[in-house]
Amino acid sequence: MKLMDGKLVAEKIKEELKIESAKLIDAGTDPHLAAILVGDDPASQTYVRNKEKACHEVGIVSSIYRQSASMTEKELLTMIDFINHDPEVHGLIVQLPLPSHIDPEKVIMQIDPAKDVDGFHPINIGRMVQGLPAYLPATPFGVLKLLEHYKVETEGKHCVVLGRSNIVGTPMSILMSRKAYPGNATVTLCHSKTKNLEEISRSADILISAIGQPEFVNADMVKEGAVVIDVGIHRVPSAETQSGYRLIGDVKFDEVSKKASLITPVPGGVGLMTIVSLLLNTIRAAKKEIYT
Ligand code: NAP
Repeated sequence: MKLMDGKLVAEKIKEELKIESAKLIDAGTDPHLAAILVGDDPASQTYVRNKEKACHEVGIVSSIYRQSASMTEKELLTMIDFINHDPEVHGLIVQLPLPSHIDPEKVIMQIDPAKDVDGFHPINIGRMVQGLPAYLPATPFGVLKLLEHYKVETEGKHCVVLGRSNIVGTPMSILMSRKAYPGNATVTLCHSKTKNLEEISRSADILISAIGQPEFVNADMVKEGAVVIDVGIHRVPSAETQSGYRLIGDVKFDEVSKKASLITPVPGGVGLMTIVSLLLNTIRAAKKEIYT
């Protein structure tokens, strides 16, 4: 078994991005990511702080608009519109989840696709499906980068994706089946209505779990030599850490790592790649690589 080290790959990409961003700054463009955070969900606050820190590391300007949970949907849509029209801002993200009185679909639709560096807008999703240049959703994009770094052969392989969310499982399945590298795989997408999930999972050469169930994937569900990517992140109570919790994934790492040829740890795997993908998309936005 070999670890797919998200930290190492993320650091390598960040070094490349530092150079890109310095070039942009020299040419008069300060790459700039704006993030809107509504409410005080602790996990969301941590994610936004980590994104801000990562931006600073590579020379991307980061603005955070912290808003109270009582912000109305209309106010949020107006704020997005304002940032859409700010020529200094290249990327805009709205941290999810939002308070229940705000419709996330409306919010995503309001973001200018040219600034939608999370890759959630239907225009970017549609372009991705058609194989056109697009901002790829950050987590699946990060998984592709890991597969690329570890030179995982994907062509003709059976890739099983567990979970069909709009932000992870569904785009992941599309990206793995597209005519490209990484891609050209034969993909099966599993969800809560799938019959024989264990059997399907056992036939995977590449297993990507984004099911959101702690330690759901056990050794019986994994083929000897499979590549296993664990997208899941779960906080569980722990008496051994100062914070009182530790992070685990969708995969029972101890037993599955004995069968896998390559596996991502949690933490230290896909999570770090997600942030780096956001930075990659922001630099692409500042360079106007996709939309002019
Ligand atoms: P989600 O929206 O909750 O989707 C979970 C998917 O898994 C759904 O499609 C659901 O099926 C399926 N599912 C749930 N339980 C199942 C079961 N017992 N059997 C079969 N299918 C089942 O989750 P998400 O937003 O994609 O996130 C998934 C996990 O990834 C979470 O742990 C999340 O914290 C983590 N995550 C990590 C990152 C990162 O950067 N590493 C980024 C995003 C998310 P139905 O559609 O039928 O309900």
